Amino acid sequence: MTKVELIDVVKQYDAIEDVTLTGYRNPPALNHVTMTIEDGETISIVGPSGCGKSTLLKVVAGLEYPNSGRVLYNGQDFTEIKPQERGVGFVFQDYALYPTKKGKGNLQYFFEVRKRSEAEQEAQLKATAELMGVDFDLLLGQMPDTLSGGQKQRVAIARCIVRDPNLFLMDEPIVNLDAKLRERTRIEIKKLLKQFAITTLYVTHDQQEAIFMGDRICVMRHGVIEQLGSFDDLYYTPANLFVASFIGTPPMSVLPAVVEGALLVLGEHRWNLPAALAGQLPPGPVRLGVRPEGWLLDAPDGASMQVRHVERIPTERASFLIGSLYTNATIVLAALDHPHVTQVQVTPDWERAYIFDAESEAALWTPSAPDLF
Ligand code: ADP
Repeated sequence: MTKVELIDVVKQYDAIEDVTLTGYRNPPALNHVTMTIEDGETISIVGPSGCGKSTLLKVVAGLEYPNSGRVLYNGQDFTEIKPQERGVGFVFQDYALYPTKKGKGNLQYFFEVRKRSEAEQEAQLKATAELMGVDFDLLLGQMPDTLSGGQKQRVAIARCIVRDPNLFLMDEPIVNLDAKLRERTRIEIKKLLKQFAITTLYVTHDQQEAIFMGDRICVMRHGVIEQLGSFDDLYYTPANLFVASFIGTPPMSVLPAVVEGALLVLGEHRWNLPAALAGQLPPGPVRLGVRPEGWLLDAPDGASMQVRHVERIPTERASFLIGSLYTNATIVLAALDHPHVTQVQVTPDWERAYIFDAESEAALWTPSAPDLF
């Protein structure tokens, strides 16, 4: 049972000497991060490379200490506690198995360190092998260099599980596997996480994986948490343009526009805004965001979109029209049998459109999540 809290955590890697030498100081890898990971919850962490995802994991694990702020485990201050005393299971992308030990030796090493009896070791190994599923015991007899990537990762995860961790920290654990194996392994990992209800932070750069693994998703940029919430929160009510553009595939189209009273002006085109929306928006430049499914095709007040190509998605019985609207990259969802044309008329479905402040990029208007079920 572990609830973890980060309170106003700052982590700056630069040493003071570097700053005086170069006169340049890197921005903090974590810049006043506050978050709570509830007991038994899995939070997926996403964000561009260098945004601080791994640093966040290391600070939670105690492998890096914050410059300021606190890390609490179940309400107790663990900021200065050594990693080996935190009961954390860390799974990295490169497995880090002991190369000279068979699968079994890799799992047992921990028991040797902790001086457990033979009988205890065998019982724990057996229980873990059963949990890890079909054929896992076969892997225990093999050396790491005879195992495939997926098999190595299963051993690495099992090695974490035998330690009975309070907390799992996974840093892109399946990024090195091929696509098919990734799919299978992520299902296995999720099953294990649910079975054990172990509190988990799961770093990935793959959005689908983040959605699949996480009860909630944390979007980071420049060492800051831009938003932490369910997928629906992030998709339908993004805090800002960054989150809106980061979440969703294909991505939202973002168009620079101007609010003039009840009109939204895009290039030469003027749309009448619904009164409810117009009343919410200050006049001046904004960013209009429209997801592929948020466009109406061939509406009477449509603007002309140039279509470069049509991507068919038979499993969705749909296609994407990919092109531009006043030189801005635009993607529109259409029927599977939509004809190959070079131009279509498009209008935002105002119930599904997003408006952002042109400067701060904060959301000024977002749609509510549809009642899907
Ligand atoms: P991510 O996991 O999102 O790619 P990291 O947490 O690895 O990001 O890195 C965040 C920032 O901190 C980056 O600017 C990176 O260059 C810097 N950084 C990470 N580790 C170190 C380190 N050991 N020494 C100095 N800078 C580091």
